[in-house]
Amino acid sequence: MCGIVGYLGQRNAYPVLIKGLKRLEYRGYDSAGVALITQDGDLQVYKTKGKVSDLEAYADEKDTSGCIGIAHTRWATHGEPNSTNAHPHYSASGNLALIHNGIIENYASLKHQLTEAGVEFKSTTDTEVLVQLIEYIQTSQHLDLLTAVRIALQRVIGAYAIAILDRSNPNQIIAARKSSPLVVGIGDGEFFLGSDASPIIEYTDKVIYLNDGEIAVIRTGHDVEIVDLNNTHLEHEVKTVDLKLGQIEKGGFPHFMLKEIFDQPDCLRDCMRGRINTEANNVVLSAIIDYKERLLNARRIIIVACGTSWHASLIGKQLIENICRIPVEVEYASEFRYSNPVIDSHDVVIAISQSGETADTLAAIHLAKERGAFIYGICNAVGSSIARATDTGSYIHVGPEIGVASTKAFTGQVTVLTMLALALAKAKGSINQADYEQIVGELNSIPDKMQLLLKENDRIRDISRIFTYAHNFLYLGRGYNYPVALEGALKLKEISYIHAEGYPAAEMKHGPIALIDEEMPVVVIATHNALYDKLMSNIQEIKARKGRVIAIVSQGDTRVKALADEFIELPTTLECLEPLLATIPLQMLAYHIAICKGKNVDQPRNLAKSVTVE
Ligand code: GLU
Repeated sequence: MCGIVGYLGQRNAYPVLIKGLKRLEYRGYDSAGVALITQDGDLQVYKTKGKVSDLEAYADEKDTSGCIGIAHTRWATHGEPNSTNAHPHYSASGNLALIHNGIIENYASLKHQLTEAGVEFKSTTDTEVLVQLIEYIQTSQHLDLLTAVRIALQRVIGAYAIAILDRSNPNQIIAARKSSPLVVGIGDGEFFLGSDASPIIEYTDKVIYLNDGEIAVIRTGHDVEIVDLNNTHLEHEVKTVDLKLGQIEKGGFPHFMLKEIFDQPDCLRDCMRGRINTEANNVVLSAIIDYKERLLNARRIIIVACGTSWHASLIGKQLIENICRIPVEVEYASEFRYSNPVIDSHDVVIAISQSGETADTLAAIHLAKERGAFIYGICNAVGSSIARATDTGSYIHVGPEIGVASTKAFTGQVTVLTMLALALAKAKGSINQADYEQIVGELNSIPDKMQLLLKENDRIRDISRIFTYAHNFLYLGRGYNYPVALEGALKLKEISYIHAEGYPAAEMKHGPIALIDEEMPVVVIATHNALYDKLMSNIQEIKARKGRVIAIVSQGDTRVKALADEFIELPTTLECLEPLLATIPLQMLAYHIAICKGKNVDQPRNLAKSVTVE
């Protein structure tokens, strides 16, 4: 899940590449590197372990001239995250430099063959195998670079988005993709490459999304040429991206994560805009208009997702089952794809991914499609691979999410799932009009209620300070709030590195209760709903063992507040919509605890935003 940037035009390439890498740093930050065709026609690679800022320091005194270059920010899959393994990788002769996002699965056998043939390797990455293979084919068979790339890619198993510079052909970049994203930006006499459009939009809104198996040849003074691996010339559609620069900048907040937490009311308004008719209290999702029968006749729905999207899926399951009365299963995409699932044309699969590039979710879609299932996608990134691989779907429209720990994408996903459940229930007649209108009306008021909740930020920061000592946290919730407990625990783990577990509250006594002592903070979502009394008993059980309770309660609550060590009040709403509110204080709690501990919340260690590898 590295970030790839490229530039070819009249500008000085280096600043464009560095800026682009900073925009893509959410994808990986183990190392960073750049390859340039310098003013005197030389091919130079500068790379170092660490972040883009480390690369800048490293390249400070070096020759960064030239108008053509490629750059990379790495999330290591093969080989330690050190400077040698950083991209770009040179070929043996030093003639080629290549950057790569993905995994070359058969790298070991290719490496063995190349080593036998006398090729020497410098790094321990799978990527270097690819650049050496290309050069080996090129020199041993006396071929031009494009032909060598095509032949090499036919021998490669795995996923790649690549870009290559060639010292002996200094006016071109060759790029290709399979299962990893790559966008070509078309400016006025200049071209850009990006893993997504964010490094490009400052210069042009015209882009080509490369498809799997496509190679783009970008040359000074020519149109972009696209061929497949058999050298068949392909027509390409130039699209216009609708992404504004302000959407990918911090806007006065110290971190993207905090900005994105605070953006949520507006994001959800954007997500619902044009879909909820407030006067008629009605939901219209264009994605289901043409497929209503197909969706309503589903024998069951299977939701496939990973990480935070998987938690949103658990909420979606409860919503759809409760109001549509259609059975729903939720699967980890990574397990589903290897599980030989019983699935056929009677099933509907909903695939959820913020980036729309999650490799496991994409593979799950391909498998479900092969078996005849109908696929509904829920993504944030417009034009992403998942959006293109599905039969229909809904974007969550929350704008680019840069913070690695997902916040607004989660609430956006839950909002889309709620609208989907409502639209299906209405079409099916499984919900009465009064209930339908009540949920629609209440959903529409969630952004205002979120806004109130965000005013608790200072209070939550103060509470967070009390608990930074903890090494373990427990999060408990029931019903709709059980997945919120899972999500709260995940947020804390991701950015503060404190071990945290989410549990259905009643399950606590089947194990986790053993962990509770006076050191242990337990976050309990104990709002006024059908299970309130049961949760009260769970809190009593925690207090009896001296655990420290941070309770998320409904406004006006007195009973839980009397027991809890700390509490945060939620504006009241319908039980099925509570996750949209209850998540907010848990995001803030995780954020402030991580800040108190001095952690890098936007770029937590070992994580990357878009998981485009298995
Ligand atoms: N497999 C390559 C490496 O480890 C690229 C990793 C990625 O795309 O995240 O260097």
